Amino acid sequence: MVFLNGESNKISKLKKVSASLRSNKISIMDKLEIQKLRDLPIEGVAERLGLKIRQHKCLCPFHDDHHASLSFHVRRNTYRCFVCGASGGTIDLAMNLLKSSGRGSFREACRWLADENNVILTEYTSSSLNSNPSTLNSSRAVVLFNHSSSIIADRQYVKSIKKDDFFPSPAAFVYTLPNITTGEIALRNGYHGETSFYLLAERNEKLMQMVIKSTFIDHDIKSVIGGWIDCPSEDEFECEISIFCKE
Ligand SMILES: [Zn+2]
Repeated sequence: MVFLNGESNKISKLKKVSASLRSNKISIMDKLEIQKLRDLPIEGVAERLGLKIRQHKCLCPFHDDHHASLSFHVRRNTYRCFVCGASGGTIDLAMNLLKSSGRGSFREACRWLADENNVILTEYTSSSLNSNPSTLNSSRAVVLFNHSSSIIADRQYVKSIKKDDFFPSPAAFVYTLPNITTGEIALRNGYHGETSFYLLAERNEKLMQMVIKSTFIDHDIKSVIGGWIDCPSEDEFECEISIFCKE
């Protein structure tokens, strides 16, 4: 594989940016993002909150229930208890069930839902990121690598397909491609250079450097956000991203 065609750009690591991806600066959550949370499959949300569902019903956690009075309406994506009258959608359910752990506010419930389902909320982006960039920066590229592709989102998507009621989650589907990562970074920051996501058999620094270096063959590119970002399972997350510049 030849990437460089005799180019000899020196590349230097400048600084790591991964830490800034989760700043505490809070901005208003996007309506679209909240809709994504409302569209998460209600039964999946309930199960993650610890409810045991059988045939769209479970014991109601909001009153002393012995007869599975809480039922789920999968198509409307809602729940309702026929005894105590508790009802609502995904966010209401999370708010009510997280109350006891002190995380029952709307914002906390949204955060919990987002974290559990890999939905990226605008409020997680740093204040330096511009969610609606007015100018496009064609001198910056985004080139990322991993091994596991979008496996977590893929599994969640498959899990959202129910045998008896075929309603896969559109909110999970949008994340079933690894290049959503490069796309989101580019979109939110107005980066208009190359965006690529490569799947590797294993982490290979030499190959990654070669590919990142080759990005500079396009003379408009002055810097590349590049590196390894892999999430093979719910408990494993590796991220090492740097900004590379021509020296
Ligand atoms: Zn009830």
